[in-house]
Amino acid sequence: MSLLNGDVEIYRAIQAERKRQDGSLELIASENFVSEDVMEAMGSVLTNKYAEGYPDKRYYGGCEHVDVVEKLAIARLTALFDAQFANVQPHSGAQANTAVFFSMLEPGDKIMGMNLSHGGHLTHGSPVNLSGKWFDVVAYGVSEDSHLIDYDEVEAIALKERPKMIIAGASAYPRIIDFFKFKEIADKTGAILMVDMAHIAGLVASGLHPSPVPYADVVTSTTHKTLRGPRGGIVVTNDEDVMKKINKAVFPGIQGGPLMHVIAAKAVSFKEALQPDFKAYTQQIVSNASKLAKTLLETGARLVSGGTDNHLVLLDVRAWGLTGKEAEHLLEEAGITVNKNTIPYDPESPFVTSGIRIGTAAVTTRGMKEKDMELIGRAIADILKSKGDPAVTKRVQETIQQLCREYPLYQELLVR
Ligand SMILES: *Cc1c(COP(=O)(O)O)cnc(C)c1O
Repeated sequence: MSLLNGDVEIYRAIQAERKRQDGSLELIASENFVSEDVMEAMGSVLTNKYAEGYPDKRYYGGCEHVDVVEKLAIARLTALFDAQFANVQPHSGAQANTAVFFSMLEPGDKIMGMNLSHGGHLTHGSPVNLSGKWFDVVAYGVSEDSHLIDYDEVEAIALKERPKMIIAGASAYPRIIDFFKFKEIADKTGAILMVDMAHIAGLVASGLHPSPVPYADVVTSTTHKTLRGPRGGIVVTNDEDVMKKINKAVFPGIQGGPLMHVIAAKAVSFKEALQPDFKAYTQQIVSNASKLAKTLLETGARLVSGGTDNHLVLLDVRAWGLTGKEAEHLLEEAGITVNKNTIPYDPESPFVTSGIRIGTAAVTTRGMKEKDMELIGRAIADILKSKGDPAVTKRVQETIQQLCREYPLYQELLVR
């Protein structure tokens, strides 16, 4: 039996997407490519099983095998981040954050998160998100000249506003975040500290970014960005009372049955992240981002904060007379996938923006190294500087296709 016979329309769309992933350069900073083991776990019979509740305390029979899966996922996750407790059931990063809010806050409470246009996430208090609709939000940002989080400003706002919760973490911040400083500020102002490490979780797991786990009251993350697992969310903490509340918030508070096939895939990815070669992998992600930033700077590009400490760079494309939207489109034409992104103090709307966000996790998974980053950095600059001149676009297209052939993705799936 094959999907090819059962549902040819979906089969074709999946094959087309596989070809797109193999044949273009994935530089979206929040994306990655999972291993075939992770995909195998996701596409398994575990998708058939209802398992409301937690291991050994389920509301359904027949849970003995999924209990093994969830216990392994929890044990590996706590080992990975040196945390005492974990919940692996949130369906996504946004769900993990909602569970924290649902367990620790009341509607109308004051929360403090990073300004979305300075690199924060929608779920940290944006007016269009539940977090912005249910809570009274105050925002902090980065300083206009350095583009770094201004911790003195964070402290001043927190002292004045006295939020019940401070949220640290970002979706588009290219520098190290000082979680210890956030903890000092939270303690001084009597706030709960929540850290959302979605983007940098893989780097934290390897010790390449300082861990928030010793300082934060609660830490949330996605599993599918630098951590290279299936799409999903997690919560970890060292506080047993906090964990009890979060467990109740995830189920039955905001979710029903857990996605056991995804939890199995999470467990597989956590095991991969515990292997010594994961550290080498994440080190390569950071080295690649650093090389990409250096190459772009050599071409005269303007980078937010002047560079990067992690897996992403934010390129201010105004210097080349473009908007983020235009830049995203021009690069797409050449086979390079990035996303437009607001930059700090952006005069453009979030639909247009003045920047693009570029991440190196996915191309590093394909095996690309510094020399490839040099090629990619120059290709990006050539396209943007020439505003997508057809001859330049054609030349870059060929370079990118050659590069993709050199580092094929999912070899085994190609023959099916
Ligand atoms: C990606 C991201 C999320 C949301 O994750 P989803 O799985 O898409 O819900 C939450 N917080 C931060 C900081 C993120 O970067």
